[in-house]
Amino acid sequence: MGKVYIVGAGPGDVELLTLKAYKLIKSADVILYDRLINQEILSLAKPDCELVYVGKEDGKHTVEQEKINELLLRYAHTKDIVVRLKGGDPFVFGRGGEEALFLAQHSVEFEVVPGVSSAIAVPACAGIPLTFRGLSSSFAVITGHEDPRKERSDIDWESLKGINTLVFLMAVKNRREIAKKLIEVGRNPKEPVAFIERGTTHEERTVISNLLEVSQSPPEVSPPAVMVVGKVVKLREILKKTIEEVLV
Ligand code: SAH
Repeated sequence: MGKVYIVGAGPGDVELLTLKAYKLIKSADVILYDRLINQEILSLAKPDCELVYVGKEDGKHTVEQEKINELLLRYAHTKDIVVRLKGGDPFVFGRGGEEALFLAQHSVEFEVVPGVSSAIAVPACAGIPLTFRGLSSSFAVITGHEDPRKERSDIDWESLKGINTLVFLMAVKNRREIAKKLIEVGRNPKEPVAFIERGTTHEERTVISNLLEVSQSPPEVSPPAVMVVGKVVKLREILKKTIEEVLV
């Protein structure tokens, strides 16, 4: 019987892998990986490592969760080192918790290896600190996958009014409704918004807007992107400029 490692691969840049993740990817007998995993990371695997794609395309499941669970169980019985590789951190909107629970219920030995989450790292690399003395002393990470028009929301939208910085993941499709809802619960329509596409990769692109504009005519953004709402977005101009000045 092997061991399953539920591993976070970080936000994209291969150098943002943890040392633990790096070592496990190098020694894995099988890697079951998601859609946002960089090929460069997979190329670290040993030549005889089996690579199994179990990604989900745009909400529609290419491989259903139950099927993934079954595969994990099967590989745990046939291989020694089974790596379940997920983007960012496995426990941040990654279904890592569900998979860990499934393994525990089936008496499969497993270990969770946390990863650098895109929720924090993508804004950071784009020059946006989520907290900043005097500007932001709280942040929340929220799924943007849920349409705010849904009758019974799992999100307490009212409570989001009091949090300084909001980070939405999987929010591209619903960005307009999210901005509308935030204005509705009382956030300042002029509050700046940043969308960072493909953060920490060579294709990184940042789009700056504000809540009102996003609620009326949202700018073009393509997934994967992180949406940041809050005053800290303004720091990007200064921080990015400083970084560029240092580089010149
Ligand atoms: N477990 C992951 C998040 C999974 S949900 C983590 O901790 O990072 C997938 C969402 O993460 C995407 O829809 C997008 O909002 C965000 N995301 C992941 N990688 C990203 C990247 N390189 N750039 C921008 N957003 C990213």
